[in-house]
Amino acid sequence: MRLPILMYHKIDRLPPPPGARHPRNYVLPEQFDAQLAALRRWGYQTISFGDWLAYRRGAGTLPRRPIILTFDDGYRSTYEIAWPLLQRHGSTATVFLVSDLIGKTNAWDADEIQEPLLGPGEIAAMRAGHIEFGSHTKTHVALTTLPPPRAIAELRDSRIALERLLGDTVRVLCYPYGKHNSAVRILARETGYEAAVIARRRLNSPATDPLRLARLRMDPNTRLESLRWTLIQLRWLFWT
Ligand SMILES: [Zn+2]
Repeated sequence: MRLPILMYHKIDRLPPPPGARHPRNYVLPEQFDAQLAALRRWGYQTISFGDWLAYRRGAGTLPRRPIILTFDDGYRSTYEIAWPLLQRHGSTATVFLVSDLIGKTNAWDADEIQEPLLGPGEIAAMRAGHIEFGSHTKTHVALTTLPPPRAIAELRDSRIALERLLGDTVRVLCYPYGKHNSAVRILARETGYEAAVIARRRLNSPATDPLRLARLRMDPNTRLESLRWTLIQLRWLFWT
């Protein structure tokens, strides 16, 4: 069993605003729509991290070609633009939230254009539609730069805050900036996470360390044919 995980940030109607520092984080709705349609055509079915963890434990089955779609940071556009497209294609996704910034903006990115983040009402509506939520820590700080007590607070307090908000357990983490090391991974496990994601051009297998699940970065230049060949090539050659 090979599991691709795709990493998105913002699905937005407009091309990146002129001042955007990270234009590669924007994917147009038409592109996303076409990607969802193509994934289904190629036989992929979206699953949650909960499904993957259950499968690894021997407690559940998976479709023949599972795939996980993830959204970092929890921009409001995830609700306004991505969510209707996900529903139209019968797909699900996992959204990583910064727990101190629910309903605020991407304050961690002081030099970047400030965009609204999901609020409690939008999160509740998506949750009711079976969108899975995970933690992207409390304040989106690089965990590798923190002394352990502060890293523990970022990990544990965000999990507790999100569980209170969602009324459900939170077991998946997205390391801010993808920064992690063995100490951070140990703290993540000790503070209650069963899975965590990084950016790496690999597919995952049941043997992959669940605290180091690889994700493929999706950007405005990802063409359907190259996505298709990437998935085929990685399935045979590059998985962990
Ligand atoms: Zn982020």
